Amino acid sequence: MKVGVLALQGAFVEHMAMLARLGVATAEIRLPEQLADLDGLIIPGGESTTIGKLAEKYGFMEPLRQFAQEKGIWGTCAGMIFLAKDIGREQPLLGVMDIVVERNAFGRQVDSFVMPLEVPVLGENGDGKRPFPGVFIRAPRLVAAKGEAQIITRLPDGTAVAAQQGKLLATAFHPELTDDDRFHRYFLRLLQHK
Ligand code: GLN
Repeated sequence: MKVGVLALQGAFVEHMAMLARLGVATAEIRLPEQLADLDGLIIPGGESTTIGKLAEKYGFMEPLRQFAQEKGIWGTCAGMIFLAKDIGREQPLLGVMDIVVERNAFGRQVDSFVMPLEVPVLGENGDGKRPFPGVFIRAPRLVAAKGEAQIITRLPDGTAVAAQQGKLLATAFHPELTDDDRFHRYFLRLLQHK
């Protein structure tokens, strides 16, 4: 199993560290050719407009859409925005997840916060019902999940903040900035499904 982290811009180092800690082969992905031997890819947080523009510039858009047909992709924060079909404004998007996303959904007053989240899918493999520490940094929210896409966790006020569509995963928060590796392990389990 080998999992790449898209390293065009943003918080890719922290994802690399978490994957290394889990004993998975990893690579920083900067060119489309490097996708060839991966089982999965993480698209990190950062600035979604920058990630999108760089992805276009380096010819990633079609290769990533192909990749998403059979392999797994997990987008965190800006990565979630980039995976979405609809964000209500023009910027380069992969559009592989049937989700509607609103950028910077929590406003300036509370642009960063940590919130314990109940994530039932993490509980299925003996990871218990312990809340997951959700680290939100100028985070987006999910306005809707359609078709095959499903909401997998919400804030206590009901705001949807993570979704899954087959092997595609999107979180508005940053599990790579915590010590809790359950989300990374969950993604690795998804990649093992045929
Ligand atoms: N606000 C950023 C965006 O809209 C995302 C922030 C993040 O990834 N931490 O792209």
